Amino acid sequence: MSFPGFPPMPDFPAGEVWLAGAGPGDPRLLTLLALHALATADDIVHDALVDRRALDLRRPDSVLIPAGKRGGKPSPHQRDINEILIERARAGRRVLRLKGGDPFVFGRGWDEASALAAAGIRFRIIPGITSGLAAAALAGIPATTRDTNHAVILAAGHRAEDGTSTTDWAALAKLGQPIILYMPMSQLEDIVSALRQGGMGERTPVALIQSATTEGERVLESTLGSVAADAAREGIGAPALLVVGAVAGLRSQLLANLVGWR
Ligand code: SAH
Repeated sequence: MSFPGFPPMPDFPAGEVWLAGAGPGDPRLLTLLALHALATADDIVHDALVDRRALDLRRPDSVLIPAGKRGGKPSPHQRDINEILIERARAGRRVLRLKGGDPFVFGRGWDEASALAAAGIRFRIIPGITSGLAAAALAGIPATTRDTNHAVILAAGHRAEDGTSTTDWAALAKLGQPIILYMPMSQLEDIVSALRQGGMGERTPVALIQSATTEGERVLESTLGSVAADAAREGIGAPALLVVGAVAGLRSQLLANLVGWR
C-alpha cells in the first residue's frame, strides 16, 4: 500500500508480528500503518472489541483468528494468545495482532510484546487511537483545557483478568483531576462512592459514553451522584467509558454546532 507524498510503508516480513491498535471502532480512525497491516497480513488475531468494519478491510484470503477477551464471557487465556502469535510467526506467517484502541492502554499489549521478545520473535508496535480520548473528543469533551486541568487520569474500572480493582479511588479523587475510566460498568456504584469519599462532590459532571463511533453510540450526561441510577435506568452497558470532572460538563457549549462522528 502506498499513499502519494507519504513515506513508504514498511515491509511486513514473514515471521514477524505486528501488534497494532484499531482505534475505537469506526475504521476511518485506523492509522495508515494499521490499514497497511490489514491489507498485508496473512493471519489476523483480533480482540472482540475490534470493529467488524475494520476487519472487512483485510486481505480477502487472510485468516481471521478471534482471540477476544471480553468481560463476563469465556475468553482465551493470555498464555494461549501469546502461544498462537508465537506459533504462527514461527510458521512463517505475517501475523497482525489487532486490538481495540491502543495496544498499550489497558490492552494487555505489554504481555504479548514481552512474550514475543522472550521467544525471539521480531515484532513491531503500531499505536492506535485510544478509545478513552477518542470517545471524549468526539462527544465534545476535551481531555484538557487551559482553564480546567493540566493533567488527566486514565484508569481502569476493573482488571480484565479477575474483575477486581486495586486502584485507590479516593486517592485519585484527591488529585482533583478529571478521570477517564475504562471498563467502568461492573463496579460503577463502588467506584462512585469511593470517589465521593475522596472528596469529589456529588454534582461533579460526568459523561458515560457507550460504543463510541459505532451505530450503538450513546452519550449520557449526568453527575457523580446520579450516574449509577441514570445508567441503570437508561440501560447503558459495556463497552463504555466514564469521564468524570469539569471537562465533562463543557460539551453543552458545543452541542448546537458539533457535527457527530458519522
Ligand atoms: N486498548 C483499548 C482499551 C481496552 S479495555 C483502548 O485503548 O481503547 C476495553 C475497554 O475500552 C472497554 O471496556 C471500554 O471501557 C473501552 N472501550 C473500547 N472501545 C470503546 C468504544 N468504542 N466505546 C466505548 N468504550 C470503549
